[in-house]
Amino acid sequence: MEPLRSCPFCGGNIDIKEMKDYESIVSYHCDRCTDFIINTWPGLDRTIFDQRRHIVSGYLRSRSENKLAPLTLTNEIIQEILSSALFPKSAVDKMNKIVSHIGDQSRIPGSRISLEPSKRLHDCVR
Ligand SMILES: [Zn+2]
Repeated sequence: MEPLRSCPFCGGNIDIKEMKDYESIVSYHCDRCTDFIINTWPGLDRTIFDQRRHIVSGYLRSRSENKLAPLTLTNEIIQEILSSALFPKSAVDKMNKIVSHIGDQSRIPGSRISLEPSKRLHDCVR
């Protein structure tokens, strides 16, 4: 499998950060999904995540926000991400995540927060 030219999770541009083991382990950076690593052998089976790739993208962003190391993605790990109950799957789950994110932005209960459109808030709904 050749290195990817676009992000498999958001379709955006990606940069190759590093290649190891005769180019079989490739580290990527996507402006939206942040950093991730893919073992190019056997490569990703896009049928596993194609309709739910936004969930993988959101998971990668949440790892970055929590300062966790870039994840090496395999088909098995992507299946685990998609089957996890921790990630929003329905519109109600997404609304709850937005409310939780807004709550995280306030310093004390009852404090005013700005609801200006921002990249982070926008990313919560994807
Ligand atoms: Zn991406």
